Amino acid sequence: MPPRLFLKKGKEKPLLSRHPWVFSGAVERREECPDGDTVDICATDGAFLARGYLNTKSQIIARAWTWDAEPVDTEFLARRLEAAIRLRLALGLRFAPDLAAVTTAFRLVNAESDLLPGLVVDVYGEFVVLQALTLGIARRLPEIVALLADRLKPRGIYQRSDVEVRAKEGLALETGVLYGDAPPETVLVHEHGLFFKVDVRGGQKTGFFLDQRENRRKFADSLAGFAQGENGGKLPEILNAFSYTGGFGVYAARACPGATIVNLDASEDALRLARQNFDLNASSALPNIEKLGTPEFLTGNAFEVLRKFRDQARQFEAIVLDPPKLAQAQAQVPGACRGYKDLNLLAIKLLRPGGLLFTFSCSGLVTPELFQKVVAGAAADARRDVQILARLGSGPDHPVLASFPEGEYLKGLALRCV
Ligand code: SAH
Repeated sequence: MPPRLFLKKGKEKPLLSRHPWVFSGAVERREECPDGDTVDICATDGAFLARGYLNTKSQIIARAWTWDAEPVDTEFLARRLEAAIRLRLALGLRFAPDLAAVTTAFRLVNAESDLLPGLVVDVYGEFVVLQALTLGIARRLPEIVALLADRLKPRGIYQRSDVEVRAKEGLALETGVLYGDAPPETVLVHEHGLFFKVDVRGGQKTGFFLDQRENRRKFADSLAGFAQGENGGKLPEILNAFSYTGGFGVYAARACPGATIVNLDASEDALRLARQNFDLNASSALPNIEKLGTPEFLTGNAFEVLRKFRDQARQFEAIVLDPPKLAQAQAQVPGACRGYKDLNLLAIKLLRPGGLLFTFSCSGLVTPELFQKVVAGAAADARRDVQILARLGSGPDHPVLASFPEGEYLKGLALRCV
């Protein structure tokens, strides 16, 4: 039996509702147990609640593996990985080294929400890229890597555990090859039939914003009216703000041949890849190549560039706003909301009547309700009426465990400016 950790009276409720985190303040006493090891989480009276892993260095002192008193051995990890793989197979996402699949980049394991707390596994064609966010997972990596190698037979498994949250676990940042070959400078993937080069070793996150895949498609779908000349035959101008490596813009180029697509990002490295991604698709996947408009690439701070566009009275038919996480902690939420309001106010002012705005927040601490309030406030300040066409979130390969609302960080609104 693993050592036990006893919760203070009344603190067992979240665990009884299958929320997987134990905060250090909820612990009354515990038996001797090394950090990273398996621990039984018990109520004050000793009743078993969950089996998890311990890290006394973290404010989240334990994370639950399971609600049963079962062994957390290699077979257990294999079962959990298999369940995650089965969900992706059911979604039509398969590990496809032949690159014949329509989509070869997706999330295979979404940490707590796939019942593997602290573990992120992303698939990029023949390569697997993983992040171990906690000590408990870092300790089990050799088993996890062996299981993934055996099950998926990838060309290589690469670690991108260069994430700041590791500091809260007392862990250093780590990157490198864990199995097989090192990924090339860029890995070529397909997403809904479009091509993207992904820098899995040096790019942001694990190289690509996989959580936005379905929203990129929805954005492209929403441009159909413009492509069919809804705009009096005028070809639309589209602003892809916080473009990273071009994602939303490349989709827009396929949906709207001839459109002007302005890709704006602070990172020159990201824009260099964005250029390549446009070229790649212009020469292969996109129809009507001769009509494909010239994308523009702008390096700059979106807060400043949008203001400059406003001063120049520049107008667009569609805008994407996908800023990085603006609130890292509760104390930063008011400042983040001012940032979202500023961006959305400027974007709404830049839209022609009937224009579309796909606006996002990936700050988990900013709730969907709060985000909508901020956007509505921006529209009111701009003296524009704005209609919500759809509420957006991450795709189903980023499931959110119903008992773990913290897993739902990405939210967005598809809006039409009257
Ligand atoms: N929409 C993208 C992902 C965007 S991630 C996709 O679908 O792939 C957020 C991006 O914002 C990053 O590329 C980052 O470089 C960029 N960024 C961060 N701060 C910025 C700023 N102030 N101005 C412009 N870009 C910024």
